[in-house]
Amino acid sequence: MTTRVLESIVRGQPTSDGAGVRLTRIIGQAALRHLDPFLLFDEFRSDDSEDYIAGFPPHPHRGFETVTTMLAGSMRHRDSVGNVGFLGPGSVQWMTAGRGILHEEMPEQEAGLLWGFQLWVNLPSDRKMTEPRYQDISVDEIPEVQVEGGTVRVIAGSLGSVTGPISGVDVAPLYLDLRLDADAGLEVAIPVGHRGFAYVYEGGGAVADGDLDRGELGVLSHEGELALRAGPEGMGLLVVAGRPLNEPIVQYGPFVMNTSQEIQEAVRDYQAGRFGRM
Ligand code: MN
Repeated sequence: MTTRVLESIVRGQPTSDGAGVRLTRIIGQAALRHLDPFLLFDEFRSDDSEDYIAGFPPHPHRGFETVTTMLAGSMRHRDSVGNVGFLGPGSVQWMTAGRGILHEEMPEQEAGLLWGFQLWVNLPSDRKMTEPRYQDISVDEIPEVQVEGGTVRVIAGSLGSVTGPISGVDVAPLYLDLRLDADAGLEVAIPVGHRGFAYVYEGGGAVADGDLDRGELGVLSHEGELALRAGPEGMGLLVVAGRPLNEPIVQYGPFVMNTSQEIQEAVRDYQAGRFGRM
């Protein structure tokens, strides 16, 4: 049987985004520009409110999906057509921006730990201009599977017979949040041909044929199962995979299209107020 191997190990770059939120960018920086179908992957984690309090004031998106996963703390989302969403600890928001939304993402707390992730998932060319859609998933809607020596929260895709709540996403994503006790092992099935990664957010251990510590992302090869074995501190990690699109990517900030003409169109539509106003 084939098992996945690590093609590379990537550490994030400290950066700031929004109105000055300090975060670590793991996909979408020089060492890992894209990982088709994923365009960006950030971790934000701080208990110093100065690092996050300014949040992400109104900004547009077009041509892809943003996935926000909270481990600790809360955010509030609001868009230009009146949608409001609350993201508490353990919750997930899967937002299909499609042809365009204008929204803000602000911390819903003035102190304490804020810890989570944002992933950008590309849309295929014929779906980039689809209607915007939200899947706001609260913590109790995410099935938690007990495995030997750990738990797995199934956010999207399946683990064994358990399927996560996210539906209708073009790249048929797998998105798992796993916690393994010291020395616990697990084999994870990933659909054949899916591209993806494992990101260790706590502790560390063996991931495929490598060893990953907190803050390291392993890029997975295309085929086979993924073997995991936690080290002495246990391991918390995300395993994320999706069908690659193999299409040209032209990105200008929060717009990701296939051609520069489509980018110019996005900028014009934004400037003309066609994303709405806030
Ligand atoms: Mn956003």
